[in-house]
Amino acid sequence: QRQQQLAAAGLKAQTVDGVEIELAANIGTALEAPAAFANGAEGIGLFRTEMLFMDRDSAPDEQEQFEAYQQVLLDAGERTVIFRTMDIGGDKKISYLNIGEEENPFLGYRAVRIYPEFTDLFTQQLRAILRAAAWGNARLMIPMVHTLDEILWVKQQLNNAIAALKEEGLRHASSIELGIMIEVPSVCFIIDHFCDEVDFFSIGSNDMTQYLYAVDRNNPRVAHLYNPITPSFLRMLRQIIDVAHKRNRWVGICGELGGETRYLPLLLGLGVDEFSMSSTRIPAAKTLLRQLDLSACKALATQICECRSGEQIEQQLDQFILPQQ
Ligand code: PEP
Ligand code: MG
Repeated sequence: QRQQQLAAAGLKAQTVDGVEIELAANIGTALEAPAAFANGAEGIGLFRTEMLFMDRDSAPDEQEQFEAYQQVLLDAGERTVIFRTMDIGGDKKISYLNIGEEENPFLGYRAVRIYPEFTDLFTQQLRAILRAAAWGNARLMIPMVHTLDEILWVKQQLNNAIAALKEEGLRHASSIELGIMIEVPSVCFIIDHFCDEVDFFSIGSNDMTQYLYAVDRNNPRVAHLYNPITPSFLRMLRQIIDVAHKRNRWVGICGELGGETRYLPLLLGLGVDEFSMSSTRIPAAKTLLRQLDLSACKALATQICECRSGEQIEQQLDQFILPQQ
């Protein structure tokens, strides 16, 4: 079976009824990119750039970042790379930023929330990404966005960075597709507003799950409640995807849920356009995807959205028969 999966790595990720779905990889460092592509990734759906900032005494400068980002884009060739800007602060401690202890780090000062205080650091990162973007197909993604003002501020910084690079005569991309991670549930209700400001969305199901249910993602005592496959989570996904699709915006998923083959038919049926996962999971996901019929998956999703518990959903999934079995 492993051989079958490896063979699938070189095949198109398309359903039996001919719909192409993007299967991408999550990476934490530039070094992981070649293995991702060897596993058949059609792009990098989440580059967790904060890894470059962690476990050191000072931030990487613009040139160091540029080189790492450029390397991934060169490895990617025609494929797309989504750079998630640094998701630091909160529980991801960075000694040189002096953010301090917080009582509730997951509800605290992290990701997009710290950028206005550390504008120079954020600008350096934008400049490095924009410079690298001249060498490939790059997209920019902002973590933990909650208000529209946050993204308007980011766009302002992006425009300033582009203007400065132009003035300095440094090679750079003069525009870049911009997206947000959907990790804060409130965003779900104003997706239409965000559609006017960004090009795409990617659901960060790891954080989304904990914020939607008020369940700490790292606390074993409430681990039984930490399950994204519930009626509320699925309704929220459906709502996000329906609004985004009406406005021609695509929706990906880059949390752990995106790599769970058991839920692939359901998520596909809900309309998820792109799945980004640990690269070792891609061959299995592609093998399964190539056996699925999108219209059957849509029927499954409609049926499952009527379920009243996680257990009922799991039962329905157990009964779902693959077309070729
Ligand atoms: C997520 O929250 O689902 C996500 C992909 O981001 P991270 O796991 O890096 O917080
Ligand atoms: Mg997250």
